Amino acid sequence: MQKHDQDMGGPTHDETPDSVLITPVAPIANHTHGGRAKCLQRLVRLDLPVPRTVALSFQAVHGIAQGEMPDMASIVEAFPADALLCVRPSSQDPDWGGPGAILNIGMNDARYVDLCDSLGRDGAAALYLRFVQSYAVHVARLDPDVFDDVEDGGPDALSEVLHAYEAETDEPFPQDPAEQLAAVLRSMARAWEGTSARLLRQAKGAPADAGLGLVVQEMVPGFGQGECGSGVLQLVNTKTGQPQITGRYLSQSQGRDALGAGAEALYLERDPRGPSLEDSAPEAFADLKSHARLMRQRLREEMQLEFVIVSGAVHILDGVRVTRSAQAAVRIAVALAEDGIIPREEAIMRVDAHILTELLHQQVAPDATRDVIGRGIAASPGAATGRLVFTAAEAQASAARGEPCILVRRETSPEDVRGMHAAVGVLTERGGITSHAAVIGRGLGLPCIVGASNLKFHSKRKQLIATDGRVFTRGDTITIDGSSGEVLAGQPEMLEAAEDGAFQTLLTWADEVRDIGIRANADTPEDAETARKFNAQGIGLCRTEHMFFDPGRLTVMREMIFAETSEGRAAVLARLLPMQQEDFFALFRIMEGLPVCIRLFDPPLHEFLPTSKSGQRELSEALGIPVSDVTRRVEEMEEYNPMLGLRGVRLGVTVPEIYDMQARAIFEATLDASKEGEPVVPEIMIPLVSAKREVELVKARIDAVALAVKAERGEDFTYRLGVMVETPRAALRAGEISPHTAFLSFGTNDLTQMTYGLSRDDAGRFMSAYVNQGVFPEDPFHVLDTDGVGELLKLGVQRGRAENPDITLSICGEHGGNPESIAFCREAGFDYVSCSPFRVPVARLAAAQLAI
Ligand code: PEP
Ligand code: MG
Repeated sequence: MQKHDQDMGGPTHDETPDSVLITPVAPIANHTHGGRAKCLQRLVRLDLPVPRTVALSFQAVHGIAQGEMPDMASIVEAFPADALLCVRPSSQDPDWGGPGAILNIGMNDARYVDLCDSLGRDGAAALYLRFVQSYAVHVARLDPDVFDDVEDGGPDALSEVLHAYEAETDEPFPQDPAEQLAAVLRSMARAWEGTSARLLRQAKGAPADAGLGLVVQEMVPGFGQGECGSGVLQLVNTKTGQPQITGRYLSQSQGRDALGAGAEALYLERDPRGPSLEDSAPEAFADLKSHARLMRQRLREEMQLEFVIVSGAVHILDGVRVTRSAQAAVRIAVALAEDGIIPREEAIMRVDAHILTELLHQQVAPDATRDVIGRGIAASPGAATGRLVFTAAEAQASAARGEPCILVRRETSPEDVRGMHAAVGVLTERGGITSHAAVIGRGLGLPCIVGASNLKFHSKRKQLIATDGRVFTRGDTITIDGSSGEVLAGQPEMLEAAEDGAFQTLLTWADEVRDIGIRANADTPEDAETARKFNAQGIGLCRTEHMFFDPGRLTVMREMIFAETSEGRAAVLARLLPMQQEDFFALFRIMEGLPVCIRLFDPPLHEFLPTSKSGQRELSEALGIPVSDVTRRVEEMEEYNPMLGLRGVRLGVTVPEIYDMQARAIFEATLDASKEGEPVVPEIMIPLVSAKREVELVKARIDAVALAVKAERGEDFTYRLGVMVETPRAALRAGEISPHTAFLSFGTNDLTQMTYGLSRDDAGRFMSAYVNQGVFPEDPFHVLDTDGVGELLKLGVQRGRAENPDITLSICGEHGGNPESIAFCREAGFDYVSCSPFRVPVARLAAAQLAI
């Protein structure tokens, strides 16, 4: 999350005084005293009723941790003699945390007696008790269990706690307020420097030497005569971001007691569910509302106020940024910009692009209980609950009964695609982020976990065995969280998808500033519709072999692969031609003149050959040959290294009629679609190229088909021919390839696989071990390896452009939807990125943030 608090002015470290009373002109800055101190100064500048506060600098707190106490007298003297104090942490970024606040410092036996007069014995005991307990646990480091038996509140509880303290420490509870304060400061400073605290904040992005400031504030206890109490208030709903006064208030309380008080606490605004502060203290409520509005306006953020009311008068103790869900983060940023409080660019910068994914899919609710039974690679975001099924047929049957199901497979193949359509989520034992299940899952917007190798899959027994030995059988309910990679037992509470008006507005603003194009990878009319819905600027990759996943069509595709004679092949291709023509026509129509980049067939054979007996039987029926012949052919065609076998252009060169058919289908559909609407200029892409000659051969035949179609139809059209750079050699030889092509599209899935020599289907088995041990910083199939693969991309871009300055450059591997990878592509001079339709919104926002 981009931090909007830009206030970096103020003194340098050396000039920073150890402690300073917060006034409108005191030298306080985020990077010397922390965000809380700075925020309190802003509230003071707004003339809000903030109690006296002294801020200790990072430098001073670091010194305290090392045993160098600051001048305590100057701190104590800033407050009235009998004031009670509290100390709170103030780190540079509030998200980095810090030790918990300690309240009521200065309470001792004498103050207790004094306060019994003004607050009553219960009120005075509550203050003292709270202090002794937090001092004992956080300063004297006693085990909290020591106080387990103490009843809540009251003078009896107080004397019990004081006795327990003395028994555990062999010392009476310290009575000198200055000594108490010094001990609190020391313990908080040391807690910050402890190893676990450091690791925790580093995990949140804090630098190793992040400093801690502390603020010492005069307590305004919410106890006493008249309306006294404490509470918190904010102007928006934390979950939705919609305007709504939320928070609670508790009479005769302090700190955040109101939040844990259940029914006893009052609502703030008048509320049918129970009594409210608006009813009991309307003036204080009105003051609070106007203070909160002023803070929103001037601090340019939705803030939560911590307040105390004393005899009807409001005091503001603190303001913190409202915590927010992904949906609320978007809504709040947009509302602040729409109200003219922040510019649109700042609203764009305030939303972390990654969180948009959460708004597009159902999620496990953040506070839900997670019964984790296994883990895998989070391959397609969103969460889904359903009954376990182990075959595509079971998935379809389940869907027909109206029962949501999770399809569990060792790995998926085209035969499973119908089952994937029928399921609400997919879980596979094998595979990585670019394996079949992952790519299809993302395309469909279907939650998916792959490579869950710590679960045992027994497809025959229809069982899934959890890491802890629990056995789940067909029909049992599980949940997969494709955002975290966790497989959960049962049905946790879910949060619905929430792409609302604010989401659309933010993306519209993003489109106005971004300077790199965003297209979608879309194979079917449904994908294309999704791409349009998310405002993709065209299709950057249509994987034509994916148009044959439908079981009816799969057989035709297999017949084509199996054809042994040219007559046999011609007959199959004649059946494929109208199917393809119809497919392309549908895409062109949906895209209404936006570019559509069609990749010629690239069917990895192992994904398309029928491996199961039933699949082989079906094919034998379709071909009218014995099953034994099918089995023999499958064995003959089996490749040792299928990802590097007869794929892509290699198929096009060895069996050129296949690409001829596709080119014809594209051109016929181009003419048909152009008649109905915007003129279509198709883009045709040659996959898996490694040599210039491959391009020359395919180009010559496609040009010939174009001429033939133009002559037959007596109509003209143009088209653009391009090359996919997916092999290291194609990147290295981009200079000799580019003069023959209108565009180069970098397929970083295969390029990553080949650069690392890492099978994209098998990497899931050891990827987590590699990432955990720091061999790879991240899964390179997920986040582009800018050092190695990136170097090849840069070489390809530079050499390709040098020989063809007008060439269009893009990326269409899965990295196209990853914000970090988009940053690299923009830097490298790409014209557009193309990603799964559901990742388009993330890409649009991430691209805009790069341009600001
Ligand atoms: C690629 O290799 O990056 C690519 C987009 O093609 P596919 O994933 O279909 O191999
Ligand atoms: Mg590829």
